[in-house]
Amino acid sequence: MSFHIKGKVAVVTGGSSGIGLAAVEILVAEGAKVAWCGRDQQRLTASQNSILEKYPDAEVFTKICNVLDKNDVQQFAQQVNQQLGNVDMLINNAGQGRVSNFENTQDEDWMKEIELKYFSVLHPVRAFLNDLKQSQCGSITNVNSLLALQPEPHMIATSSARAALLNLTHSLAHEFSQYGIRVNSILLGMVESAQWKRRFENRSDANASWEQWTGDIAKKRGIPMQRLGKPEEPAHALVFLASPLASYTTGAALDVSGGFNKHL
Ligand code: NDP
Repeated sequence: MSFHIKGKVAVVTGGSSGIGLAAVEILVAEGAKVAWCGRDQQRLTASQNSILEKYPDAEVFTKICNVLDKNDVQQFAQQVNQQLGNVDMLINNAGQGRVSNFENTQDEDWMKEIELKYFSVLHPVRAFLNDLKQSQCGSITNVNSLLALQPEPHMIATSSARAALLNLTHSLAHEFSQYGIRVNSILLGMVESAQWKRRFENRSDANASWEQWTGDIAKKRGIPMQRLGKPEEPAHALVFLASPLASYTTGAALDVSGGFNKHL
């Protein structure tokens, strides 16, 4: 089945690794023109090279851009428009989580986490809004976490800020309906990432394979599917929600957690 995005223009923030890069690859494979950003030039160049090696004819644009820097994001948006054309799909993926409980989270840490979760979405939305208004199939898709609905005490600030992002996504969906722009999110459980790979390198049982080691973690955490997600799994969900295939879906939060959610 096609996502109907051939020739459409997509932007993925934090597209240089993990879930973002997996989304970039699916978008490119489906014939979209894709722009992505990150803060580290080496990672960004490596990601662009890896995509162009597999898809030499792909129309892509990459630029160093910190999504928390409003001017950076405005410049990125202008250049994407000049290089690839009017943007149809914005995927807000850039970010990371913070592991800390109440007693070891300082006020500055709270401020940083709140800034990251709000402004990693607010700056790109502002910068790309005019483009999205002019698209015939405009969409914004936010990467969020199951923590929004199911907080974890060891990630207190991230959980709380994720709940705020879920709320914000809903408000944007309602406000932007008048422009034909859909706004959705995915709620992640635990997905294989560079952080997990680093922990694997330092595992206590050197004989454990990646599958055994991650499978044990998933079982201990009570993930019914007994494994972590692979980056391409949330990436497929992101591309679906961003694409015209999800044309009657807005304000939705799609669970991609291997059944980790405990609520109805
Ligand atoms: P990765 O670390 O592999 O990818 C994160 C990407 O975001 C990188 O390309 C990184 O590049 C970029 N990035 C981070 N901060 C910024 C910034 N301020 N401006 C621009 N780019 C930035 O992580 P994942 O793929 O695992 O995570 C993707 C998203 O999913 C994140 O928002 C994460 O919080 C969220 N998530 C992940 C979960 C998981 O289990 N993996 C669970 C729940 C949520 P660079 O560092 O070069 O800037």
